[in-house]
Amino acid sequence: MLIHELAQRLRSISFEKGVLSPSLRKDRLMKLKKVILEKELHITEALKADLGKSTFETYATEIGFILDEIGHILKNIDDWTTPKKVKTPLPLFPGKSTVFPEPFGVVLIISPWNYPFQLCLSPLLGAVASGNKVVIKPSEFAPQTSAIINVILQEVFQQDEVILVEGGVEETQSLLNQKFDYIFFTGSTMVGKIIMKAASENLTPVTLELGGKSPCLIEESANIDIAAKRCVWGKFLNAGQTCVAPDYVLIPRHKQDEFISKMKSHLQSFYGDVKSSKDYPRIINQKHFDRLMSLVIEEKLAIGGEAFRDEKFISPTVMKNVDWSDKVMEDEIFGPILPIIPYDSLQEAIHEINSRPKPLAFYVFSENEKKRQEIIRKIPFGGGCINDTVIHLANPNLPFGGVGTSGIGSYHGKKSFDTFTHYKSVFEQGTLVDIPLRYPPYEGKLSWLKLFIR
Ligand code: NAD
Repeated sequence: MLIHELAQRLRSISFEKGVLSPSLRKDRLMKLKKVILEKELHITEALKADLGKSTFETYATEIGFILDEIGHILKNIDDWTTPKKVKTPLPLFPGKSTVFPEPFGVVLIISPWNYPFQLCLSPLLGAVASGNKVVIKPSEFAPQTSAIINVILQEVFQQDEVILVEGGVEETQSLLNQKFDYIFFTGSTMVGKIIMKAASENLTPVTLELGGKSPCLIEESANIDIAAKRCVWGKFLNAGQTCVAPDYVLIPRHKQDEFISKMKSHLQSFYGDVKSSKDYPRIINQKHFDRLMSLVIEEKLAIGGEAFRDEKFISPTVMKNVDWSDKVMEDEIFGPILPIIPYDSLQEAIHEINSRPKPLAFYVFSENEKKRQEIIRKIPFGGGCINDTVIHLANPNLPFGGVGTSGIGSYHGKKSFDTFTHYKSVFEQGTLVDIPLRYPPYEGKLSWLKLFIR
């Protein structure tokens, strides 16, 4: 759709008539679930074509994730959409106070290519549950997935309820020139700044789900075998193209070799010959392939390093004895390359993490409860796990989002509903009683006021 047509359509949406009732929202979400299930095979094929994702990974991290979120919303939406009475303080007697959840209006959702199905639909669920109209702009780099999402949305929603716009930078810029009531962006920190700048023109509120380097800290007492296994899983899932993948590992120097040898054996048992494994995805495009290969330091290779540009294949790659000053430590890696930095003191490792931007995710492996708590308290981060990686995303009761340069705001579960909701506060006063205390003249009233407000 052309952007100027869209702009016209947006202007024609009226708030009074436009907001779907909670029962219609439920109807749309149930229909969405049904159509996703009917098109499961098409979605799986699209993700295979765009990213070489296996059927299992597609179900676990894309389709299943969305079905689960829909279930959670359907279970709770009646409660979430009901206006809530809140307490009224005595001086406001005999009034009553109510909070009404209200949609923002028309929201813009912009999403990236790495989990192209889930990251488009997950915010959409929250936006629809809250009663918003949605314009959604998927990534241009996962075109098959974008096409199947369009088919699904057209089947489920009416024309002015959800509109999908395809395109790249230029189209997104034109979209940003329109006035929206809310912008929800998932992508890089650099583009996040562009989005926030554009939103500020209209004082449009934003959620920015961004990226960055997410550390994994292995403490002295850690179970090295489990740490290696869960790091291999979290890092090489989607070939490392996961915003919350462990970006790098910090490990006590004398444990580095043991950790690498455990990683090697887990990689072997997960993928066997990784090049021919159906479970190991590909890099999204050659530009990212080249960027990733420029980060590999031959002399520091401990595992992997095989790459085939035509096939966009990079094997799980681990580098040892990496220095903070190496190029691979500059920006988010976002691919199957894992640098390991050995450390000599835990305090020094914590200090190094804290002298960089606050991460989106942080992982700590430790068998020592006191140390775990100390580490979690000393390091600010968006969200994370103790003795695991990535899996915190699977709990809809844990709000998901970054802090500082890794993001603003959060979502998932109830937090998705809250993100797309304005909580409208209304105080209702009766007219039969009218206590004169607040009205001028104030002569002689202050001591009475102080009886109520102290
Ligand atoms: P990106 O920022 O390049 O693109 C995201 C979206 O913005 C796309 O739809 C793209 O078309 C649009 N865009 C790109 N450049 C633009 C510009 N100059 N002006 C306006 N719009 C523009 O990100 P990506 O490469 O698709 O995804 C990778 C990044 O996303 C990584 O940094 C990763 O950490 C982050 N990410 C974050 C999360 C999260 O939930 N926090 C999830 C997935 C990915």
